[in-house]
Amino acid sequence: MAALSLPIKGVRETGDTIFALSSGSVPSAVAVVRISGSRAGEALRALIGRLPEARRAVLARVRDPLTAESIDQALALWFPGPASETGEDMAEVQLHGGRAVLAAVFSALKKLEGLRLAEPGEFTLRAFEHGRLDLTRVEALADLIYADTEAQRQQAFRHMRGMLGDRAEGWRRTLIEAMALVEAAIDFPDEGDVPKDLLEPALSISARLCREIEETLASGTRGERLREGLTVAIAGPPNVGKSSLLNRIARREAAIVSPVPGTTRDVIEVHLDLAGFPVTLLDTAGIHNSSDPVEQEGIRRARARAQGADVVLWVLDAKGPQGQGFDPSAEREAHWLVTNKCDLLSQSELEALQSRTAHRPHLVISAETGAGVDDLLDELADFARAYFKPSEPALVTRERQRHLLEQAAAALRRAISEGAGGREEVVAEELRVAAHALGRLVGRVDVEDVLDVVFRDFCIGK
Ligand code: GDP
Repeated sequence: MAALSLPIKGVRETGDTIFALSSGSVPSAVAVVRISGSRAGEALRALIGRLPEARRAVLARVRDPLTAESIDQALALWFPGPASETGEDMAEVQLHGGRAVLAAVFSALKKLEGLRLAEPGEFTLRAFEHGRLDLTRVEALADLIYADTEAQRQQAFRHMRGMLGDRAEGWRRTLIEAMALVEAAIDFPDEGDVPKDLLEPALSISARLCREIEETLASGTRGERLREGLTVAIAGPPNVGKSSLLNRIARREAAIVSPVPGTTRDVIEVHLDLAGFPVTLLDTAGIHNSSDPVEQEGIRRARARAQGADVVLWVLDAKGPQGQGFDPSAEREAHWLVTNKCDLLSQSELEALQSRTAHRPHLVISAETGAGVDDLLDELADFARAYFKPSEPALVTRERQRHLLEQAAAALRRAISEGAGGREEVVAEELRVAAHALGRLVGRVDVEDVLDVVFRDFCIGK
């Protein structure tokens, strides 16, 4: 990919050479320190006394460049730019992961002129600035680092390989070709049919791109949901055992279990990995009427979250009045009935309950003994699998991407309809709008305002 050479606001002069701990927190077996910038080679030479062969690990004694005192024995690597991760000269030292080891190496590096600690995400930002990663790949990299489940990892990895970025860049290039045809049609003196011959291929290219972008958008919000997780709200009248169920599932004291109704005031979340898919379980507190303003706020928030949930588990007490608070008219496919406290029922009562209910799914459980809870989780895993596993992997994983693709498709649709009326100038303008949206998607144009958002999730060393 060609260098982007973008003017990036709020970032220090890239003339600095930066360094950071790029591995996890110390103490650890190994700590990886990365250095990037024009002085990376000098810095590595200062630390280990030589520059290793490019991309070959060497065992080296690390020393303080000023006092020559030994600090550690480490593996050192040298990655000359531009074929490095950041596109700059880079060095990597794999040290023993002790706090004092790192403190000594950092203090040695700080003594070198032109070196400073990296800001969060700055290595990746440099990779982006040097055209090593487009913006969709930067987003995917953050997703890969934060992926909790297998399906999230797969999605992030596919996008890091350019699943959306390469496609969008291809569309942008094709659009620029179409724009050139339209410009030629505009510039062409009024002679015979030539402008039509130029406009028509541009419009048929636009129609094809528009179709492809619309198909890309057709995966809906599945990709975004996979990043964030499906939400499952546990709702129902007070005291039926909602918090107990959440606790049972989380196997830790995440929610307050209390025999007094209405003590769980906030929405409590538990994040689950069900068959590789992320699911966020919400305890929506006792949804009931209350005059206490604090409780009312809890109830309002609970209702809002439950309404937005993908699945609502409506919990009932097996010994309580059946159907209490459950409104079958509000019933939707993802409104599941869960009868809790089945441990309080006799065998015959249990069988009667199971045969009586027509509602599906209907799960009979005991949060106390754990009976039926595994079946409930299996049902949820099946639901998540069916939700996320259509044949095509999602191409859109963020609202930002969706928004820009929608803009591009809308501009193309306008271009096509204006083109039918032979209005070349308007067609040219709409194609420019579409190309601009795709340029923003991959981060080629107008990046300043999105960088903060995209890089917000990054930690130091990445
Ligand atoms: P919530 O208000 O719906 O969240 O209900 P809680 O989880 O606070 O539970 C209310 C009461 O029911 C507590 O005393 C729990 O110990 C009890 N409880 C919850 N689940 C079960 C169950 O499966 N069996 C029995 N016997 N008691 C339960």
